[in-house]
Amino acid sequence: MSGWLFARRALLPQGWAADVLIEWDDAGVLTAVTPGSSGSGPQDQTPRTVELVLPGMVNLHSHAFQRALGGLTETAGDNPDSFWTWRELMYRFARNITPEQIEAIAAQLFSECLRHGYTSVCEFHYVQRAPDGSLYARPAETAERVAAASRAAGIGLTMLPVLYSYAGFGELALGSDQQRFRTDPDQVLRIVEALEPLRGGQFEVGAAPHSLRAASVSQILELTQALPAGRPLHIHIAEQQAEVLGCLEFSGMRPLRYLSEHIALDARWCLVHATHIDADEVDRIADSGAVAGLCPTTEANLGDGIFPLEQFIHAGGRFGIGSDSHVSQSPVEELRWLEYGQRLQHQRRNVAVSHTQRRVAEFLWQGALQGGAQASGRPVGALAAGLRADLLVLDSEHPNLDGAASDDVMGAFIFAGNDNLVRDVLAGGRWVVQGGRHVDQDAIARRYKQALAELREFRS
Ligand code: ZN
Repeated sequence: MSGWLFARRALLPQGWAADVLIEWDDAGVLTAVTPGSSGSGPQDQTPRTVELVLPGMVNLHSHAFQRALGGLTETAGDNPDSFWTWRELMYRFARNITPEQIEAIAAQLFSECLRHGYTSVCEFHYVQRAPDGSLYARPAETAERVAAASRAAGIGLTMLPVLYSYAGFGELALGSDQQRFRTDPDQVLRIVEALEPLRGGQFEVGAAPHSLRAASVSQILELTQALPAGRPLHIHIAEQQAEVLGCLEFSGMRPLRYLSEHIALDARWCLVHATHIDADEVDRIADSGAVAGLCPTTEANLGDGIFPLEQFIHAGGRFGIGSDSHVSQSPVEELRWLEYGQRLQHQRRNVAVSHTQRRVAEFLWQGALQGGAQASGRPVGALAAGLRADLLVLDSEHPNLDGAASDDVMGAFIFAGNDNLVRDVLAGGRWVVQGGRHVDQDAIARRYKQALAELREFRS
């Protein structure tokens, strides 16, 4: 539905602007963003007036079903816990999950993401077979469920069917717990093809080799060459030290170096968890134009490590944020942790800045928007004509924002307190959050609770 909004202040690509008239069409595309406007809408109608508007954030890395695992893996085992012990629990959880449950969990997740300010998500989707390891009659059965959930919640989606063939470097055979994830390049391409009819303003399709552990470089090459031109490609690259050591043992190279020696990295690529990269790899990513996909709350939860953000920014690298395992559904928390990790590591303040942007929160929001938009392969990431009508109205009467100067708004939004300051959310030209509540919040939550009740027994 077309519409317009008058923002007394809005964050545009060049910074804060005053008296901005924002207009969009029936297709959910911004048709005009006009600063210094008089406050009257098209045909002299009076548009709704709000105080503070931001462009909606892109969540560039999600495994939607893992939302239901949140809080269930926080008890220590007899041996030191790690990413790898967490992964065993996650496999057990994924073992019996049904397409209906995947849809219910994804809808809950997406409604929460919207409430906190994400208007787009990239789904790194790997539960693609039935519980017994057989293929579903519809090759994209589970991906279509996630797509249905995105439509129900009203979030923009980039679906990335995952290539997952091996259990480790050197083409190790998959274990019994990984049979639901098994695909080869042909199967991934069939899933991509099945999803083609869904492509449109709110939906794009790319692909994702799971990792260098789970896909060989010859498979990755085969997949990237057959995928339609310009589609996003995502991969888990270097999340864990054990992964780096495994790659060194197998190839004599670290993961990012190994990938970039065999595959021409470019702006289509999103390198998720580029946590463990050396100085040469920092430059390789920055020079390629690929996006580093950072997931600070999940990386903290799983004990992964800290990304060399400061060096990466200095090298001119592009980055975006994702909520990955969804221990948080808030871009505020991802960006706060991204900066705090750096402060703790370097024992300094205000690390994520550039020569031209000294305000940390604004640098992080704008940077993550640009990188996230690129990684999504969709026309999003700014309040600008031609892009999707994705925006957030902040609660300007909240004590943290009331009377705040433009230079301080983002600092208050990202670094002060724990209240959710997102009041209303427009995604693809549709108001999906109003007064802090998702428009279908109760029905979505009911289906989620039902799914979770069915799944609770996974630990036995
Ligand atoms: Zn992931």
